[in-house]
Amino acid sequence: MSVETADFIVVGAGIAGASVAYELSLQGKVIVLEMESSPGYHSTGRSAAVMSENYGPALWSRLVTASRAFLETPPDGFTDVPLVTPRGALFLARDGEQAQLAAQADELLSRGASIELTSSEEALRFCPVIRTSEFVSALYEPDCMDIDTNALLTGYLKVLRARGGRLVTNGKVEVLERSGNVWRISTPSGSFEAPVIVNAAGGWVQEIASLAGLPYRNVVPFRRTAVVFDPPSGSSIQSWPMTFDVAETFYFKPEAGRIMVSPVDMAMSEPCDAQADELEVAIAIDRIHTYTTMEVRTVKHKWGGLRTFAPDHEPVIGRDAQEPSFIWLAGQGGNGVMGGAAAARLAASFALNAEIPPDIAALGITTENVSPGRACVLDASGDKPVVGTFEAFG
Ligand SMILES: Cc1cc2nc3c(=O)[nH]c(=O)nc-3n(C[C@H](O)[C@H](O)[C@H](O)COP(=O)(O)OP(=O)(O)OC[C@H]3O[C@@H](n4cnc5c(N)ncnc54)[C@H](O)[C@@H]3O)c2cc1C
Repeated sequence: MSVETADFIVVGAGIAGASVAYELSLQGKVIVLEMESSPGYHSTGRSAAVMSENYGPALWSRLVTASRAFLETPPDGFTDVPLVTPRGALFLARDGEQAQLAAQADELLSRGASIELTSSEEALRFCPVIRTSEFVSALYEPDCMDIDTNALLTGYLKVLRARGGRLVTNGKVEVLERSGNVWRISTPSGSFEAPVIVNAAGGWVQEIASLAGLPYRNVVPFRRTAVVFDPPSGSSIQSWPMTFDVAETFYFKPEAGRIMVSPVDMAMSEPCDAQADELEVAIAIDRIHTYTTMEVRTVKHKWGGLRTFAPDHEPVIGRDAQEPSFIWLAGQGGNGVMGGAAAARLAASFALNAEIPPDIAALGITTENVSPGRACVLDASGDKPVVGTFEAFG
């Protein structure tokens, strides 16, 4: 059987794989291997599709800041439609959470983001269904955007092809071995070889590392549930922001004329075709009834998706501690779509043995703080996550 060679092989055609393939295709031939019959089937196709610079842990939210320019002004020819449209985000604090809200405001201001701090009463002008008795203050982030994830993914893959790269679907990596200076890979759709491999397999990154003969690493998928219901009749929801509570027990947003809500569940999972969890569907409905004046009469749609985390929830991007030709682009958690553009440039710099892009370095991202070799990622016991490790980081 013939073997197709490339300079870089990327495993996974979610937003991570497609974006790093796009970056690397400027430097050489890239082949993306995707086990499903189409790209974006798993986490990337199941997200809430927003970009907020106030969402996620410190380093991820900085990568969101570094991704904003690409999403707002993509290169010529990338897409015919806007990648982002205004949404706004509202973060609601209960009594006792004001200090946390103030710290978030300071961090956002230090990165040049626009914000407005208000009382929960005043926040009704942004979102008229908040149960204001539950909250005391709010932070409004006007520059939070909805992302057209499909246009983003399609744009990356279109440019990849135009630069001579290739997406191989039904291309599940089944064998992965280092032989001399190349990785040899077998899939049902052919065999491939490249000196450098990028592991962008989302919830499956650990499986890919194991196939490569690398030890267990603490990068673990967790399921999240989303529920869609009809808004109150007569309400004009399109201008409502994505609304979160600071304690992270729910968020909701307008979604194609309906409301999407998540109870922000986080249940450790095997990598799989995730489904909505029925108990979490009930909790999502209860949160809407408790924290808003809306009523959920019928669930119109629901789904589950995987979010994959290192214990500290920060990016896992860089050369493997044991095998430097194996590049990790993992641990995207809940920021993979919004922060993906900068994460891809960062991963590409490691694949190319280049400096971290200066705008990303200026935000305090270093080789060490995103490294797959940092202690909490390496600190696994044999073949499973250390119990308590993830909880310790919250
Ligand atoms: C309910 C929910 C809401 C979210 N909301 C947001 C949001 O608003 N904004 C945001 O930025 N992020 C959000 N996220 C997170 C975001 O969806 C993820 O961070 C992102 O999609 C991860 O992308 P990925 O490419 O790493 O993973 P994936 O999209 O899962 O891609 C990995 C790919 O690897 C492939 N693969 C696996 N194993 C193999 C193999 N052996 N061979 C070949 N291919 C393989 C898989 O088939 C898959 O297509 C949300 C997630 C969920 C679940």
